[in-house]
Amino acid sequence: MVAEQLPLQLGWEIETGSPPLKEKWEQVQTLLRETVRRSSYEAFLRNLRPAFWEEGCLVISAPSNIVRQFVEKNYLGPLQTAVNEVFGQEVKIQVIVQPLLEKEGKKPSPPRVSEAAQILPGSLPLNPRYTFETFVVGKSNRLAHAGALAVATSTGTSYNPLFIYGGVGLGKTHLLQAIAHASLRAFPDRRVMYLSGESFTIQYVTALQQRKMEEFRRRCRCADLLLIDDIQFIANKESTEEEFFHTFNTLYETGKQIVLASDRPPKDLLISSPRLRSRFEAGLLADVAPPDLEMRIAILKEKARQENVELPEEVVEYVASLVASNIRVLEGALIKLLAYASISGCLITRSVVDQVLGPYFRAPQENEVTPARVLECVSRKTCVSVEQMKGKRRDRSIVLARQIAMYLLREFTPQSLPEIGALFGGRDHSAVIHSCSKIRERMRKEPEVRQLVEELIQEIRGHTE
Ligand code: ADP
Ligand code: MG
Repeated sequence: MVAEQLPLQLGWEIETGSPPLKEKWEQVQTLLRETVRRSSYEAFLRNLRPAFWEEGCLVISAPSNIVRQFVEKNYLGPLQTAVNEVFGQEVKIQVIVQPLLEKEGKKPSPPRVSEAAQILPGSLPLNPRYTFETFVVGKSNRLAHAGALAVATSTGTSYNPLFIYGGVGLGKTHLLQAIAHASLRAFPDRRVMYLSGESFTIQYVTALQQRKMEEFRRRCRCADLLLIDDIQFIANKESTEEEFFHTFNTLYETGKQIVLASDRPPKDLLISSPRLRSRFEAGLLADVAPPDLEMRIAILKEKARQENVELPEEVVEYVASLVASNIRVLEGALIKLLAYASISGCLITRSVVDQVLGPYFRAPQENEVTPARVLECVSRKTCVSVEQMKGKRRDRSIVLARQIAMYLLREFTPQSLPEIGALFGGRDHSAVIHSCSKIRERMRKEPEVRQLVEELIQEIRGHTE
């Protein structure tokens, strides 16, 4: 999307006061009022402002991140049409977040000069939201986070390279950009280059075509910190890979820090050079895994805090239990909910969640994980009957089956703690919490328990995905 690709650092003078832009924007608003539904216009488009104009690109500010994301997702089409029509040309649009400051008569503070100066030309822009402060740390990303922090804050090279890998929407890009932000803040003189595998490839090919290889090489090789996102993209493209290998070596050998992110570990990358692969493996390899329930809850709370909204605990837990695998999807769900609440003026309750997110998160799961299904799987695997699990007997094998069932219900179904307790003959919610932590502890200490639980998870997942 255009929005993510333009250098935010170009300039920050708010020119809303200059007549031409202001007048044009009024015309854009008039067109939009005619083309979009009134409620949507009022909720999302009315508070957009033109921030500045720069070489065929109109930067528009949105008062909050929710509005920005909603506009980008749903109204970029009408907005683009209206802007093109008013400006009489094909205009690139970028939406940024900026609270409505002009009302309070404040000027936004420009970005630190050093930050703008030390991001090297050719870098992709950094998303101001992707910082360590907004990154939630949990079991599934602890190592990657620690490595990232070390790289960002130490003067020499800590782990070189730092190689972060994992599935989509799990925070790799966020971490890479957090390193860039923190590094620029801590060491204003550090020259930072942030690229994706794709942009590296494009710049390389363009440089070849335009016979500007020397310039391209100089640009990449003068970085003190080189961050490349989605490095898997250079794999299987032989000459790009080779060029990258040389860039890597030059930086590596002169003690510059390199950070790479990939959707898979180095051993699974389709790279032709074994030497490059072993260099990738020589530093710190850190994966990011899907977040567990507890972390999903923490992430939702953090996002709600960023948006200045308070959500009932029950709602947070419920949403976290609906979306399991991908943090981007989790964020999307929250945005949808908040947008709905802001249009309708409703309080967000569990039934509002069902109504708003239901079509997205429940319908496709034909073989949804139901409590009955979890109990049935556990029973089959442990040879403890469902009645015994629900009953009071405390034989070791029955207790284990009961606790595993509670743990799996907590992790894989949207049931709340009291609901799970109720399923087991009216036990208290604290008994469920105790069971879950007991199982986590036993999984850490007893390989056979871990294996049993993992097999059950496979079985439950296999049935749902
Ligand atoms: P990836 O690059 O791994 O596909 P992203 O870094 O783009 O994933 O993350 C997807 C979205 O989820 C982003 O909006 C990001 O801010 C958010 N996100 C991912 N991990 C975390 C986290 N640990 N804490 C807070 N937000 C996160
Ligand atoms: Mg990414």
